[in-house]
Amino acid sequence: MASPVLPLCAIYGGTFDPIHYGHLKPVAALATQVALHRVTIMPNNVPPHRPQPEANSQQRKAMVELAIAGNSLFKLDARELARSTPSYTVETLEEVRAEQGSQQPLAFIIGQDSLLSLQRWHRWESLLDLCHLLVCQRPGYSVAMDTPGQQRWLDRHSTTSVDELHAAPAGKIYLAQTPMYDISATAIRQRLAQNLSCGDLVPAPVLAFIQQHNLYQR
Ligand code: ATP
Repeated sequence: MASPVLPLCAIYGGTFDPIHYGHLKPVAALATQVALHRVTIMPNNVPPHRPQPEANSQQRKAMVELAIAGNSLFKLDARELARSTPSYTVETLEEVRAEQGSQQPLAFIIGQDSLLSLQRWHRWESLLDLCHLLVCQRPGYSVAMDTPGQQRWLDRHSTTSVDELHAAPAGKIYLAQTPMYDISATAIRQRLAQNLSCGDLVPAPVLAFIQQHNLYQR
């Protein structure tokens, strides 16, 4: 008997301080392009040696909940926030892989900037054993890798075939043609600190939450 086809699901990790349209809109387009069944947003617990988020874990979680309310493509997984230890993507993916089994096609979504710095991630070489990488374009970031070695690694794993993403549980890198939004959480925090408007940059309920809790005022 043929085994049932398992839908392609993706995890989208980040600090989400705050979540914004530069996160949401490219990923919605990506989901259509590659027929993603579900995108699980997973806010991370930031390692102590990096700049800490300005909003606390509960506030970042609440903003994700507000941003995705009523949108069945997205779901929230707050497991990394519940830990007191730093979030290492590779360890979270091992946990998810163990839960979902070895055959489930699983992807991790990143922006182009994250692809360029991926080789600084903890145990980055193991990532493709656990998932595919789906890469969204981001304004200002080169599509070429920094070194010939990194470029060879990318070329070896990259695919333009959506079918391949669905057929294998892990191992491919897909450079998606997603719309570009010149939005970053850093710029949003700076604008808010200067009382500049952010209405086009974050969903209205997220902006209302930010104002209600006086976030990012410095
Ligand atoms: P910060 O400015 O605080 O560093 P950020 O806006 O880059 O934050 P993160 O939460 O750190 O957002 O990013 C989570 C993921 O979203 C990363 O993989 C990042 O590359 C991606 N991402 C963020 N903004 C964009 C954007 N405008 N276009 C495409 N990808 C993005």
